[in-house]
Amino acid sequence: MSTSTPSVFSKIIAREIPATVVAEDDRVIAIEDIAPQAPVHVLVIPKTEQYRDVGALAAGDPDLLAHVVATAQRIADERAGGQYRLVFNTGEAAGQTVFHVHAHVLAGELHEGNLL
Ligand code: 5GP
Repeated sequence: MSTSTPSVFSKIIAREIPATVVAEDDRVIAIEDIAPQAPVHVLVIPKTEQYRDVGALAAGDPDLLAHVVATAQRIADERAGGQYRLVFNTGEAAGQTVFHVHAHVLAGELHEGNLL
């Protein structure tokens, strides 16, 4: 579902606010998380903000979800020997704060245990 104002990630995609970009193509962008919870903490974000969470993305565009996962795998292969966690927070009660679907790629020792 679209929102009326651009998400923070849409502003990053549009280069209206800065971010450290680690990968990008026509469908996704990957950036360093501004508040990393692990030695590797990258966000893989579809460029469309049509989908608020992973359930909506899976239902609406499974090919794009597969591309998000493949991008996460490539980044983890390059930076963490392919050993990583892939987290999609879904809903406020689960800690989601940005309602523009994104995958957290986490590798290395997590801060304070294992949850974001
Ligand atoms: P969520 O809590 O929605 O699963 O994850 C949102 C993530 O986006 C958080 O880990 C947060 O640190 C990150 N984040 C929020 N605003 C910015 C920003 O302006 N730049 C970057 N690089 N990350 C952000």
